[in-house]
Amino acid sequence: MADLQIENLAKTFKGGFTALNGITLDVADREAVFLLGPSGAGKTTTLRLVAGLEEATAGRIMIGGRDVTRWTPRERNLAMVYDKHSLFPHLTVFENLAYPLRIRKMAESAIVRHISGVAETLQIEKLLERRPNELSGGQQQRVAIGRALVRDADVFLLDEPISHLDAQLRARMRVEFKRLQRDFRATMLYVSHDQLEAMTMADRIVLINKGRIEQIAAPQTLFDLPDTLFAATFIGEPPMNVIPATISDDSGYYRLRVGDAWIEVDRNWMAEGDPLRAGSEYLIGFRPQHLTLCEPETDHHCKVNGKLFAVETLGSRVVFDIDTAGHVIRAMTSVDAAQGHPSTIGAPVSFKIDPNFIYLFDKTTGRTVRQARFTQRQKAPAHA
Ligand code: ATP
Repeated sequence: MADLQIENLAKTFKGGFTALNGITLDVADREAVFLLGPSGAGKTTTLRLVAGLEEATAGRIMIGGRDVTRWTPRERNLAMVYDKHSLFPHLTVFENLAYPLRIRKMAESAIVRHISGVAETLQIEKLLERRPNELSGGQQQRVAIGRALVRDADVFLLDEPISHLDAQLRARMRVEFKRLQRDFRATMLYVSHDQLEAMTMADRIVLINKGRIEQIAAPQTLFDLPDTLFAATFIGEPPMNVIPATISDDSGYYRLRVGDAWIEVDRNWMAEGDPLRAGSEYLIGFRPQHLTLCEPETDHHCKVNGKLFAVETLGSRVVFDIDTAGHVIRAMTSVDAAQGHPSTIGAPVSFKIDPNFIYLFDKTTGRTVRQARFTQRQKAPAHA
């Protein structure tokens, strides 16, 4: 195995479209790094450049400390996993697995030894004589992964290998993949547009948007401490609520105007970092799980008013969509907590927002100007 470094990688296609605009990232030896982002962000292009299937317009790719930018795909010693469709339909599972080893002219006894080890880990020992069309989708996928794993590659590149599987199988494969990555001590660069996949499987996530990196962080850090509005709203389901909010400074007592209500916020929190401009409009963000539906008559914190726009029942959770000053805000509660609250569309609803869970974003740059207060503990040094 080896580490991978990508420095200032750029790609402009024929015709002048720039898909990548200076990508810099690294994958440590035996680390699983996920490229996550919306469709067209440049994830697959990054992977193809690393694989040597596309030529970089600028930048450098280093594998195990060697500059491979101009090397052929073969010379780079990488293994790429596409989806199950990359299996040869006329060959048995054994022959599919043996194929990359035969190309490398490995001795027959070594091939048998190699494949039996991989087949055991992947739990496909009993399937070796079958052809791909005699396997389930998940089994085919495991063989496709196995075909990459039998090779002693320096780095594994995976492009949405499980995205076409059904939800149940995907959930199983997520767990299996994580185990395989540990067992094989593989260095992995994995492309996904599915945040759940990236959050559950990655050591670190590289969030890409329009050919640029938004943020690189461990999954929980990306969720708790987003650097940008894009990162804050891309990660999390349902997504973070974002609405404009004006700041008022009343002799050092700060409040945020949200819809028709003022929310008091901690003044130390407001004072730390770059100064905020009272009277200016920012964007305020808060996750649906940090809103509480309430009754203004019995709770003086229950200040924000709106009208019920929709109710989505998700089994164990209920999502209330509330129209507040022309913006739809989502509140997520447990089924129990939803009892007794209005369910008629158009009914008046009130809620409160926990000020410890509010983020602030610059409206113009989209940068995070205040992380939520509850994240302060994450910023503290580990030994503190
Ligand atoms: P998806 O999740 O949809 O696969 P992605 O993040 O992997 O998206 P890429 O496939 O890397 O996106 O594509 C990035 C951008 O580059 C897209 O706008 C795409 O249309 C463009 N692109 C990709 N390949 C080429 C090409 N050969 N010529 C011109 N433009 C291309």
